[in-house]
Amino acid sequence: MRTAIIGGGIAGLAAAYELEKARAAGAAVEYTLFEARERLGGSLATEIVNGAVLERGPDSFISEKPAAAELCRELGLGAELTPSNDVARKTYVVVRNRLIPLPDGLMFLVPTKLIPTALTRLFSLRTKIRMALELLHPPHPSGQADEAVATLVERHFGAETVDRLADPLLSGIFGGDATQLSARSVLPRLVEMETAYGSLTRGMLAAHRQMRARAKAAAAKSGSMAGQAKAAPRGIFTTLRSGLQQLVDTLEARLDPAAVRRSTPVSALQKTADGWRVVAGGRSEAFDAVIVALPAWAAGVLLGPVDSALGEELSSIPYSSSITVNLIYDEARLGPLPEGFGFLVPASEGRAMLACTFVHRKFLGRTPPGKALLRAFLGGMRGEELLAETDTALVATVRRELSEILGNKILGLTVEPEHTQVSRWRRAMAQYAVGHQERIQRIVARVATLPGLRLAGNAYDGIGIPDCIRLGRRAAKELLAAGETASQQVNQSVS
Ligand SMILES: Cc1cc2nc3c(=O)[nH]c(=O)nc-3n(C[C@H](O)[C@H](O)[C@H](O)COP(=O)(O)OP(=O)(O)OC[C@H]3O[C@@H](n4cnc5c(N)ncnc54)[C@H](O)[C@@H]3O)c2cc1C
Repeated sequence: MRTAIIGGGIAGLAAAYELEKARAAGAAVEYTLFEARERLGGSLATEIVNGAVLERGPDSFISEKPAAAELCRELGLGAELTPSNDVARKTYVVVRNRLIPLPDGLMFLVPTKLIPTALTRLFSLRTKIRMALELLHPPHPSGQADEAVATLVERHFGAETVDRLADPLLSGIFGGDATQLSARSVLPRLVEMETAYGSLTRGMLAAHRQMRARAKAAAAKSGSMAGQAKAAPRGIFTTLRSGLQQLVDTLEARLDPAAVRRSTPVSALQKTADGWRVVAGGRSEAFDAVIVALPAWAAGVLLGPVDSALGEELSSIPYSSSITVNLIYDEARLGPLPEGFGFLVPASEGRAMLACTFVHRKFLGRTPPGKALLRAFLGGMRGEELLAETDTALVATVRRELSEILGNKILGLTVEPEHTQVSRWRRAMAQYAVGHQERIQRIVARVATLPGLRLAGNAYDGIGIPDCIRLGRRAAKELLAAGETASQQVNQSVS
């Protein structure tokens, strides 16, 4: 089976790795990975500057989803996995230029602890009363139409919770907008809880009790297996010691170099009677199967001429762009930063910055001793125009906003960062808008009519790195399984 993989981001690399494993194990598999850019990895890109690990794109993956850490271990990178420094985990929200910590006990936007919620300065008394009354919320009938995250959150906790919590969290994570994002795709657990319990707080507390009971049972079991190795420390986020580029480089090293074509954008894709033709770099080549691991808008351009309905569905998945600005400072000159991982900025604050991470706190060892690394995140659905600004203008904006928010005039005005790095990511982050799941069902139905085609990437079933890895590997495994079935049928009909 000859397979073309189009797109050398993490999804395409994971698919190529799976095919390479099958090839090395003796399966009759050939593959070619086409990547438009000179480098592989897509949004994953790390630069080491004077011993500091600067992530241009993602800085980590969520530990709860196992696919990324599993792949790292499989590749021999287990000892490089680095948990977030959760003892220092504290996140602030900017409210009228002041940093207010998120109250303890927030789970997926849901307050679960009475005292921290009652005492927080993040919410007004009116919102706190609303939060208390939420415990009486009646169950929502199942089978309702999808709705925006903002609608769901406002129904339970009021508009202020959307403004100060849901919107900044979602724009800090997805570059997204709570009034557009689909509750069913982005917060499926909350939708289920609303149907089962009515109150999200009661649902979350019940889930928490179940989790604790499971953890207790697991601890009792592992206690009875005395002498076994202790589990590695876990944080809410995980990264690699030298940055996520380590994963890209290790995957690339596992692939057959002759199978990887960098700087080779695919310009057209055709369905033939017995497979596919891929046009790239002035050549047209035949393949039995194709894994399209591109942003959906790019997949739509290639697949539109093959199936116009599929092309339209793919092209209508919205994407947001983002900018990251990394600033390295001498810690002694910078002065003390607030404790914690960083802060989120609600849209109502009217700032360019969506979030800022104190990277040297979130992951210990990211900088040499005495250095601080601040990473600002800008853009998102409401900030596309910022992409046109120069690096100098963006750095100046970030420094000004940092000094206004952190209340440290020196930071903005006289202390120069030792190094700055600006990265722009155009239309890189898929937005799961209201109705996303129905759209995906229509896409899956169209793909099923095109034998040998698989899609992978962040547009479909999770935008994070673990989801992209899972979908890339699954696409390759499905093609391998389909290839085996086809060759068994040929053998049976021959014998
Ligand atoms: C700034 C930023 C921060 C993020 N932070 C996190 C985070 O902390 N944790 C997390 O889990 N996720 C994070 N994400 C999301 C995550 O990084 C992405 O969803 C994921 O990396 C997407 O991988 P992909 O392979 O689907 O797509 P991409 O990385 O976009 O790769 C697609 C590849 O296809 C190539 N390509 C495009 N057109 C063609 C063509 N015609 N022919 C050939 N090749 C083509 C592109 O050059 C690119 O290399 C972040 C994303 C961004 C942008």
